[in-house]
Amino acid sequence: MSKLKLSLIFFIGAILILTGFTQRHALACEFIEYSNYSEIAPNIFVSDSFNRNQKDKLLSKITLGKSRVNTTFGQMVSNPKVVITTNESEASDFGSNIYGKALLTPLGQCIVFGSEGQNIDVIAHEYTHAEVHYRVGWLKHLLNVPIWFNEGVALLVDFRKPYLLENIDLSPKEVEFVKNNEFDFSIGNYQASRVLVDKIDKSSLYQNLEKLKQGQDINSVFAL
Ligand SMILES: [Zn+2]
Repeated sequence: MSKLKLSLIFFIGAILILTGFTQRHALACEFIEYSNYSEIAPNIFVSDSFNRNQKDKLLSKITLGKSRVNTTFGQMVSNPKVVITTNESEASDFGSNIYGKALLTPLGQCIVFGSEGQNIDVIAHEYTHAEVHYRVGWLKHLLNVPIWFNEGVALLVDFRKPYLLENIDLSPKEVEFVKNNEFDFSIGNYQASRVLVDKIDKSSLYQNLEKLKQGQDINSVFAL
């Protein structure tokens, strides 16, 4: 084998290993059918520690969370895979904390719920992330949708107390700072993102996401 071929094989191998490592949580979700999680409804997988009653309760909360998204923004079209875990260690197998995480990759959308995220607020929040990602498309989402925008939009259906407008006390300067700096996932950053998206029209969100998909700039589309 020539040196060139060997180098090429080495290079491709290295890329595959690196991709496998960085995307390992998404891959764990992608292959969940082959794990000990069971599918209790189409695309909804739960840890085998849940009993029948708990599984039924989870399903009804998911229905309520999805319906909150549908009534706020319009009918969802994405169909994310959902993984529901029982403890911190299970959640971390999928890169999530005890609340939840949306794994948004070229493979698609996967939502992980931790033990503290099995409520309508977090469910609606994570489904919104999946829907925005699905509608904008992976690459445009990566390049053109800032984290503060994503979090702000998700908080429009997440009614946990710290994120309600009446409980947010930030100066315009503090709010603007979050728009122009790296998002640090603190409560203050989430609150600022909630304020930043307050003027967007919920009923035309999907139409405007389509414009982002077509390559238009987020600031002009949403007049932010
Ligand atoms: Zn979020």
